[in-house]
Amino acid sequence: MRVGIGYDMHRLIPDRKLVLGGIHIPYEKGLAGHSDADVLVHALCDALLGAAGLGDIGMHFPDTDPAYKDADSMLLLQRTWEMVSTAYGTVVNLDATVFAQAPKLGPHRNDMAARLAEALGIDVGQINIKATTTEGMGLIGSEAAMAAMCVVMLK
Ligand SMILES: [Zn+2]
Repeated sequence: MRVGIGYDMHRLIPDRKLVLGGIHIPYEKGLAGHSDADVLVHALCDALLGAAGLGDIGMHFPDTDPAYKDADSMLLLQRTWEMVSTAYGTVVNLDATVFAQAPKLGPHRNDMAARLAEALGIDVGQINIKATTTEGMGLIGSEAAMAAMCVVMLK
């Protein structure tokens, strides 16, 4: 068994599609970044790489590489899982928290879990996604940013 943790944070900007957990969520702002800036998927990739002892997402998918400009982060997850699953067969479970003041993420939780389960070839019951606000405090509370944290166990 191996455990890994991942954390990520991105700025929220207007006129950008919000992509979280591989799905599009209707909102007036989206996450800024070189790729589609899916903060949850980035935290998950880092957790997987961490558990496998394979460094971090920036090492494998540098934000200076034009190949990853506006990239679908689910593609990064797929490549990450190819590397990680070669050495470690499967994910035991995955627990994640998204830090966002808005929009409400509860209604999208099942869709995000289903998308991630499909990408990792696991059951949706092995995935737990939580969402929390920061009660209006700081960059997340003022809707200037979103963050995500993820823990995975591999066997
Ligand atoms: Zn990121």
